[in-house]
Amino acid sequence: MKISKLFDKGKIVYSFEVFPPKRDNPIEGIYKTLDELRDLRPDFISVTYGAGGVLAGSNTAKIASYIKNTLGIESLAHLSCVNSDRDNVREALKEFEDKGIENILALRGDIIPDVERKKDFFYAGDLITFIKEEGGDFGISAACYPEGHPEAPSMEEDLFHLREKVEKGATHLVSQLFFENHMFFEFKEKARALGVTVPIEAGIMPVTNKKMIERMVSIAGASLPAKLTKLLHKYEFDDEALREAGIAYAIDQMVDLIERGAEGIHLYTMNNPYVARKITEGIKGLL
Ligand code: FAD
Repeated sequence: MKISKLFDKGKIVYSFEVFPPKRDNPIEGIYKTLDELRDLRPDFISVTYGAGGVLAGSNTAKIASYIKNTLGIESLAHLSCVNSDRDNVREALKEFEDKGIENILALRGDIIPDVERKKDFFYAGDLITFIKEEGGDFGISAACYPEGHPEAPSMEEDLFHLREKVEKGATHLVSQLFFENHMFFEFKEKARALGVTVPIEAGIMPVTNKKMIERMVSIAGASLPAKLTKLLHKYEFDDEALREAGIAYAIDQMVDLIERGAEGIHLYTMNNPYVARKITEGIKGLL
């Protein structure tokens, strides 16, 4: 099933994101995490792709296949292109196809300063065009940025390139994390005004660890509202209290998104089933 079809059912789509274990860790750890996430009944689970290109991403297909073929949940395999050439991407597409994976989140990937870029793909749009040209029958999703992509000279320019990704074939968008809902709704309104009509899922990352969130915020360029900064300071030395406060913040954010008509919510689970469970229980009955 294509992810975009999930949005035809007139209900709010609720999805999770997980990442493959680090290079030296066994893959079984993530299978255990996924087994725990299964009974939370997400509509689909996406699996990230290593920033280093095809080699780094080699576990994505295995994990996406486990989600789809063993757990019976729709999967969305991320695929980045900036450190890959055409043959690398062709191989990745073949592996996805062989494993029965039907959906790809097409990404440029982050630029790694010490790694020389390959020259076949510059933007996610180039990857979308290539996937289409190769003729595989994939549903294609893409990323979007409620506060603008950090490298974009302006929100307008970023939105213009977002529309290009949709024109090239993306049928579903997943947003970068954000902590202030008004930013998401303002962004969505601008995208709709430009003619971007595909479903846009809101990406929510629960704050459960000060260091992790500061790192993510600096990479993603998301702003931290005063309410959240206060929580981070207040519970700086109390991991458990910070985790519970972060869960409560994410639930509040999601309840508000749902009440204001969001089409879908994508929870960055950070491979933490406890947090995913508490949040899912917190929005029970609203989806
Ligand atoms: P693009 O859409 O190519 O945009 C990148 C920049 O280029 C933007 O500033 C855009 O405005 C500009 N641009 C786009 N097209 C053009 C054009 N034709 N001409 C000029 N400028 C252009 N990274 C990973 O490595 N692995 C993952 O699994 C992963 N998953 C992610 C999931 C989500 C939901 C999100 C939001 C991000 C994810 N990322 C992942 C991070 C992502 O790779 C980075 O944010 C990256 O910097 C941009 O990727 P993109 O696909 O949005 O790029």
